[in-house]
Amino acid sequence: MSRPLTATIDLAALRHNYLLAKRLHGGKVLAIVKANAYGHGAVRCAQALADIADGFGVAAIEEAIQLREAGIVQPILLLEGWFEASELAQIARYDLWTALHSLWQVDELAASPLEHRFTVWAKMDSGMHRLGLHPDDFRTAVERLRASGKVRDLVAMSHFARADELDSDATPKQIARFEAATAGLNLPTSLSNSGGILAWSHAHGDWGRAGIMLYGGAGTDRVLPDWPQPVMQLDSKVISVRDLPAGEAIGYGARFVTDAPTRVGVVACGYADGYPRVVPTGTPVLVNGQRSRIIGRVSMDMMTIDLTGLDADIGTPVRLWGDGLPASEIAAAAGTIDYELFCNVKRARFDYQG
Ligand SMILES: *Cc1c(COP(=O)(O)O)cnc(C)c1O
Repeated sequence: MSRPLTATIDLAALRHNYLLAKRLHGGKVLAIVKANAYGHGAVRCAQALADIADGFGVAAIEEAIQLREAGIVQPILLLEGWFEASELAQIARYDLWTALHSLWQVDELAASPLEHRFTVWAKMDSGMHRLGLHPDDFRTAVERLRASGKVRDLVAMSHFARADELDSDATPKQIARFEAATAGLNLPTSLSNSGGILAWSHAHGDWGRAGIMLYGGAGTDRVLPDWPQPVMQLDSKVISVRDLPAGEAIGYGARFVTDAPTRVGVVACGYADGYPRVVPTGTPVLVNGQRSRIIGRVSMDMMTIDLTGLDADIGTPVRLWGDGLPASEIAAAAGTIDYELFCNVKRARFDYQG
């Protein structure tokens, strides 16, 4: 038997989630497949969405070229634009769309000797204060881009800092700032990530940018009748079982000591697979559908779980996250978000279905 850790990727759920994003958004939606599709496999996910997606979003040109070479012909947007002027030739060659977030990029584009006319998503900093042109510079930048002769199509974009927080006024403020700074420019717009698509329907503009919701993540606490479905099931198996009396310490650092006779199962999944080491005793797992808990420290290749009173033995399947156990629950136990857990999965066998 080979090592049983498997990430099963449900491509039908991925398609369902994309269509849900489209329906909720009401306009066009880029499927964000950066970071290897949040750990789900960029090429397989993009191929599974190719006939329904309006386009794709990635973080870097290497990710875009990988998709082009796998036969993806839909628009691909570089969400952070280019890092060096030398990339402009590749953007042209692979017919990519590019974000533009800084004045130095306006200069480089205007100075480019290439014949190509680029599709540019000009990004405004409406309040996140990470990337984007200052609202006061936006109009001039757009005018310079239009005058440069280097631009075919322009979109005005911005990104929300707190779209997942429904009780915050940060998102309406960002929308107002964006609308004021783009008034009269007559540009298509793109504002919403998953949180915006799910929770801020008046913010949608022409293009959504759906990331985590494609993979079944929340991006918001809002409860909807039709919720994104989990795409990744991370499953392993019990590879060893032992019965211990009360008073025995388990694993590194003796972080858990049995307070009663305990049946301990060892599961083939550890932090080298991307499972967070920081989770405490009590973090849930599903043992053949029965909820149980991690006991003791997660180690590099294995973890120990409580099988006391459960119908379980060597070979019993153990779900780390997926249907019945949202990754966001494990993420909360680790003090992080499901995005990070998905991105970190490695060394598992990937099995694509649907
Ligand atoms: C990653 C990213 C997204 C997707 O965000 P989610 O919260 O995963 O939906 C959208 N827009 C930009 C600019 C991004 O970098």
